[in-house]
Parts: sequence; structure tokens; C-alpha cells
Amino acid sequence: MDGDIEIKEIYENGMKIFEHLTNNAHELQEQMLEEILKRNAGTEYLSRFFSSDQADKQSFKTNVPIVTYEDIKPYIDRIANGETSSILFADPITQFIRSAGTSGGQQKLIPITTESFEKGKYIVFWLTLWCFSDLHEGKSFYLYFSKPDMKTPSGLVASPYSTFYSKTNTFKNSLAKFCISPIETILCLDHKKSMFCQLLTGLLQRDEVVRLGTIFASVLERTIKFLEDYWRELCCNIRTGYLSDWIIDPGCKNAMSFILTGPNPELADLIQQICEDKSWEGVFKKLWPKIKYISSICTGSMSQYIPLLELYGGGIPLVSPSYVSSEACFGINLKPLSNPFDVSYTFLPNTAYFEFLPVNKDGGGKAQETRTIDKPVDLENVKLGQYYEVVVTTLAGLYRYRVGDVLKATGFYNKSPQFQFVERKNVVLSIGADKTTEEDLSKAITNAKLILEPFGIMLTAYSSYSDTSSTPGRYVLFWELKMKGSNDLPKLDARVMEQCCCIVEESFDFTYKSFRKDGAISALELRVVKHGSFDELMDFYTSKGASISQYKPPCCLKSEEAIKILNSGTVGKFFSPKTMS
Ligand code: AMP
Repeated sequence: MDGDIEIKEIYENGMKIFEHLTNNAHELQEQMLEEILKRNAGTEYLSRFFSSDQADKQSFKTNVPIVTYEDIKPYIDRIANGETSSILFADPITQFIRSAGTSGGQQKLIPITTESFEKGKYIVFWLTLWCFSDLHEGKSFYLYFSKPDMKTPSGLVASPYSTFYSKTNTFKNSLAKFCISPIETILCLDHKKSMFCQLLTGLLQRDEVVRLGTIFASVLERTIKFLEDYWRELCCNIRTGYLSDWIIDPGCKNAMSFILTGPNPELADLIQQICEDKSWEGVFKKLWPKIKYISSICTGSMSQYIPLLELYGGGIPLVSPSYVSSEACFGINLKPLSNPFDVSYTFLPNTAYFEFLPVNKDGGGKAQETRTIDKPVDLENVKLGQYYEVVVTTLAGLYRYRVGDVLKATGFYNKSPQFQFVERKNVVLSIGADKTTEEDLSKAITNAKLILEPFGIMLTAYSSYSDTSSTPGRYVLFWELKMKGSNDLPKLDARVMEQCCCIVEESFDFTYKSFRKDGAISALELRVVKHGSFDELMDFYTSKGASISQYKPPCCLKSEEAIKILNSGTVGKFFSPKTMS
């Protein structure tokens, strides 16, 4: 299937392929594992656990340990340093994918081979088409960004998946045809110039746009902020027909010369009028009148952006299309119009071999914790309602590798399981034996922010950390707030904010509350930060190498520097009462 095939035809084939994959999920998984083992049993890594003639599923399951990135890092480092023997994989590793490393803490190098990429690329390509069954209609305003490639000491290229993908012929020849951003603006390594040119293109071609999107919702939120800061200058470019002179990137300049072809004062007036409105409610619909939906991953930690995107969308559906990572492509959302909070992803059985480690998430009155139990199960033995951590064996040298994501099984499509994304594992606030997970925090904050709504105040981003600098330690939350109709910092009523702190604490589990009552944890602190502080946090992480396209805001901060950034933007501090009743 190449990029020149008619979209409609691809979509129809895609449906057939999808039916085949999901009906034969178990067989395809078995075949995939068999093939991986046959080819790689002689690698240094696997031969530690069994000999080549024992390379069957049983020996694999009995002998090969379930590992984390830390366990395989020494092997990856050797490949990165130039050892060419079959360390993890029989074929040469041709490149590394660099994960964003913002939600889980560390950037990882994930090996990739030409073949594994070819297979992954194909899947991502057609599943995108599947989700966007209307791709043959109108154009997508889909913002992508690139990062400079890094080289390992041995000269292998390491780039974020989104950058890698944007450079491929698949992208250039096919997907790019449906996206309005010129490829030169996507490949521009300066985010500000790239975003300016992509937004300018989006505004100039506003009548063609039927979809707006980014990979993750956090990037769309950043795009809105950029538009708030730059709409006057964008209008000026449209009015005069001249591109701002700070856009010096030759690729961007050249590409924009074909789009910004002359003055267009009527369009500039119209956009100015829309953006001058104090309230940006429904602004997407006003700027792009034919827009049918917004496509952006908004499950997991991205769900914090849903209210904001709903406000700007003014009723346009929010579609969370897929669940993907640098390690593997897991699944797609077959019900794009479902409520963003209820999205489930149907797993694709031909992208990797999947196992699922049951996770015990006890709630209610008992001590709540997330810990794994039992043995992993195959895709076909997944039980509905059960939580799992996903473990992958890939086509490029990862064996029984814990991705670190917790999922909840919600159903089956044919024979493929469907999962809701729950949280990143190990992203916890903790002072002592208490453990507050990403999901616990998200629920508590969702409860608390309700009391801000009657005041027209919106929470646009949050994060947290466990402050153990004094004894007893405390949880610290950072909130960025704005008024619904503007970006003004709301007037904060101390009593209301303290009530927010109380509701957050009340929503936590039994262990937290009993430690708090015993005085083993101090009162929760809520730091309200000024507008733009979370952008600074994103800039900090992207300056460290994270890709803006794949940026996931950390719910729980571990980096001192990151905490410092939010502390420096703090404009108000609130506490729950000293003692908890
Ligand atoms: P990266 O390592 O930068 O490729 O990011 C991959 C991670 O992003 C996954 O392991 C998840 O934690 C997160 N992620 C990807 N897709 C989704 C999704 N649909 N919903 C929530 N989180 C996601």
C-alpha cells in the first residue's frame, strides 16, 4: 500500500485488514512471538535465558524476565557506543527513537530497525486513515514539530518518533497531502518559527480546514497560548502580505512565499475581530468555520486539557485517536465521537507481542496502592474490569519490557481487547507509606476544581511534588488558573482556595488521610502560578531534548529545576487547615 492509493480505497482496505487482525488476534500474536524468537534466539540477550533449540513460547515465558528500561539500558548503551554484535536483536539496529521522558521522568533510547519501522509505519499510516474516515474531504490543520537529531557515540541517529516520522516518504507522500502545513514548516527546528508559520498557513487556508489537531492535547493548549500572544502579528502578515522578518529559516520562507502571496486586509480584519473578542469561547469554530472535530490525545494526563479544548471548541467533538508510544503502537479508538473521558483503545495484534501484568488497585476504605500481582496474561486472557500494566516484546529487540502504563480492560472488539488508559505507573506522590497515583491526583483535582466553576475560573494545567524538605513532609500542588472569558489572573478568595485544598485531601485515600490526621503528613499546599508558567515548564523540558509534539506534562515533578520554574511563577499560596478532622 503506497501513498498514492486513493484514500477511499485505503479506508475500505483498512476496514478489511482491521477485521482480519481483530478476528485473528490470538493467532497473530502467537505467530509474532514465534517469529521474534526464531530470529533472535541467538542474540546475546536471549541466549542468557535459553538455547536456540529451546526457543519456544513456553521457555520464553518461563525463563525470560519481565524488565524495565533500567534493566536493559546497559545493552542499549553498548549498541549506542558502537558494538555491532547481535546484542539485543539479530539484525543491525539502524536508529533509536528518543522518548519524551516528561511523564515518566527519564528520556529513553528505544531501538528500531528498518523492518520494525516499516511495519509500524504502515500501521500508523492506515490506522490514521481509519480514524479519519473522512480524510478524502477537506484538509487537516495538524500541527507537527521536529527536534534536531542526536547522534549516539557510534553515530546512530536518535530522534523522537514524531520527528523521525515527519521525515519519511510515507509522511511526505501521503499524510502530508492532507495536512495544510508545508513540510518545511514542520521540519523547521525552531518551534517558535515553526508554530508561527503553521498558524499563518492555518489562518490563510481557514476555509479548507475541516480538522484541527496535534498528537497530544498539551501541544494544542500551547498552540492556543501562542495564538493569544501572536494573533496581532499574524494579522499584520495577512494584511500586508509580508512575512515577519524574524522568520529567517530558508525552508519556511520559501514555503510561505507560495501561501502568503499578497495582502488580504479583509481576512486580517475578520481574524482581528474574532481574536479581539474578550471571550475566546468557541474560537476554533469562528476561525475555522468548516471544522468538524479536534483530534488530539486527551486521555490519561492529557485529560486536564479537556475543559479548555471544549471551551475553545464550542461544541466541536474532541477525538482521542490512538494510544501509541516510542516502544510500540498499541491501539486505536474505534468510537472517535465517544466522550473523551470514556475512550477505550482496541489493541492491534500485529504491532508487538503483548502481555498484561494484572495490577491490584485497591480503593475504598482500604489502603490504596497500585502494585502488580500474579503472572502476566496473554491478550486473549484479559479479564474485563481488571487493571493491567502492559508488557511488550517488539520487532526491534525489547523482550518482556514494562512500558509503565496502567490500563483497564473494558471490552473486546472481535477477539482484540480494548483498554482505557488509566495512568503512568510509579508517578506517585508519597511522603511515607502513602502512595497517591496519577489517577488519584487527577480525580481529587477534578472534584476540587468544581467549586471554582461558579466563579468563572478555569484550571488550565496542574502538577505536583512531594515536599520533604521539612518534617513532616507535605504534598504541594501547582495550579495555573484563568478566567473563562479571558487570560486574566482570577481574583482568588483565600477561603475558596483553602476549600479546594480540603476537597483534594478529602478525595485522597485512607492511608493519606490517616497519616494526615496523625500529623505524619503536613497540610497540603496549593501554589497558584501565573499565566504561562506551564509553558515555561514545557520549554524547559524541550530544551533538554523532549519533543514538543510528544510533550506530556509531568503530573508529579521529580526535577529540582522544574520545581524551581513553577516556584518562580507562584503568585499565591494556600493551605488546607493545619489539622485534618
Ligand atoms: P513516548 O515515550 O514519548 O513515546 O510517550 C509514550 C507514552 O505516552 C505512553 O507510554 C503513554 O504513557 C503516553 N500515551 C500515549 N498515548 C496515550 C493515550 N492515548 N492516552 C494517554 N497516554 C498516552
